[in-house]
Amino acid sequence: MTGLEVNLTAPNGHKITLPTGLFINNEFVKSSSGDKIKSINPSDESEIASVEAASAEDVDKAVKAARAAFQSEAWGGISGTDRGALMFKFADLIEEHKETLATLETWDNGKAYSVSLNEDLAETIAVIRYYAGWADKIHGLTIPTHPQKFAYTLKQPLGVCGQIIPWNFPLMMAAWKFGPALACGNTIVLKPAEQTPLSILYLATLIPKAGFPPGVINIVNGYGKEAGNALVSHQDVDKIAFTGSTITGRAVMKGASINLKNLTLETGGKSPLVVFKDADIEQAAKWGHVGIMYNQGQVCTATSRILVHEDVYDEYIKQFKDVVAANKVGNPFDDDTFQGPQVTQAQYERVLSYIESGKSEGAKLATGGVPHKNVGNGKGFFIEPTVFTDVTENMKIFQEEVFGPFVVITPFKTEEEAVRLANNSCYGLGAALFTQDVERAHRVSAKLEAGMVWVNSSNDSDIRVPFGGVKQSGIGRELGAAGLEAYSQTKAVHINMGLKL
Ligand code: NAD
Repeated sequence: MTGLEVNLTAPNGHKITLPTGLFINNEFVKSSSGDKIKSINPSDESEIASVEAASAEDVDKAVKAARAAFQSEAWGGISGTDRGALMFKFADLIEEHKETLATLETWDNGKAYSVSLNEDLAETIAVIRYYAGWADKIHGLTIPTHPQKFAYTLKQPLGVCGQIIPWNFPLMMAAWKFGPALACGNTIVLKPAEQTPLSILYLATLIPKAGFPPGVINIVNGYGKEAGNALVSHQDVDKIAFTGSTITGRAVMKGASINLKNLTLETGGKSPLVVFKDADIEQAAKWGHVGIMYNQGQVCTATSRILVHEDVYDEYIKQFKDVVAANKVGNPFDDDTFQGPQVTQAQYERVLSYIESGKSEGAKLATGGVPHKNVGNGKGFFIEPTVFTDVTENMKIFQEEVFGPFVVITPFKTEEEAVRLANNSCYGLGAALFTQDVERAHRVSAKLEAGMVWVNSSNDSDIRVPFGGVKQSGIGRELGAAGLEAYSQTKAVHINMGLKL
């Protein structure tokens, strides 16, 4: 034992040796300030472990390590094929350790273990493999410009990339950012969210095993205001990729302006789901439910505003409540649990405060609206799935992102009104619509102000398809080929083959 690891036994009996240091230059090290982050189990409020929290000085060390790796022959000098091979090995190792990683994810975050294992880990592995496949297919163009001249373009990495991720999908968000950054040949300093620092530390142990040279991937757990801010405002960081709240996104944009960093932001949402009267109501209720209640409602793309045609409004609410009742809130390690606890006490209190707001503004509480106290020791941050109906567009609960198992349902009369209501938001991440009229599906899809539209579905996300928002939901795209654009730059080289002056 180095003093920077702990032996843990998880609630599912899994035994784990977990490093607790900052991961810089392929080594776990102590924080220079001695600051720590205490990780709390949201299911029973017990402490799981205490890990090192990075200071600005530690962030600087990580950036220096990343810069040296970027300039090294061991990383900067290898081919895309070789980079891809390291990434494939990394994905294989994650797969080998997926039960341990999924256990840590559920313990720390509260999401159902079946989801951690079969969805978060499956996608983490898939996205690294997807971008490993791209690593040797990133190249420029040849452009004829004159009989004796031509130009070509080189796709080059940006350099040192700072990546700041949230707590709702810790490993998946790390993988979405690692994949394209590594494929393009960048180096990384990743700052996980302070609410969920654990799974990424175990993941870090696999980085040297995969063969990545020191400094290519550095991981600095830490607090947003200290470590996050130090990364964003560092003069030798070339890019910031951020996922989190819109308010922090604004601070990130401001801080990153110090040296005009390249920026991608994936921020908040209040995505609408529109149910027209010709929709398959049963399907619209089931997709609507999963679209908001999945992951305890802690999804940036969650379809948290449901707009329903007045003729099918009552029937829709009835069916939606039936689906809510059929899904268990409980211990995330139980096989049949759909909804676990909110990630932290702060998020739990935030959701409860919006319940009060909904009541005081005169919305009708159709179900839920109270903590759920029937799990384990009666502690933990569980909330009954909450549905407010008769919600009007000026209410706070219609406009603000709650980020919990909390949905508002609003009636509409015409297609025009539905589109106007759907677009009445400062956000524009996702939008869903249910109709059997193919013309309407395309017409409305084009009018919705959103980065992604789901027709007769909700919250589809695929590693091959661009993901991101418009308005205050973000800048730039992740995933798919579009994700590579965010981590490479185009250099134009002009060649004169003999044109004399
Ligand atoms: P946040 O935006 O504060 O945190 C996201 C990440 O940014 C974390 O790693 C955090 O440490 C870091 N950060 C915080 N302040 C920073 C700063 N000044 N400079 C640099 N980095 C900083 O989000 P949160 O507090 O975890 O959650 C608050 C709300 O954000 C939620 O209720 C929800 O509405 C929203 N949220 C959205 C997403 C999403 O995926 N869009 C994810 C998580 C939270």
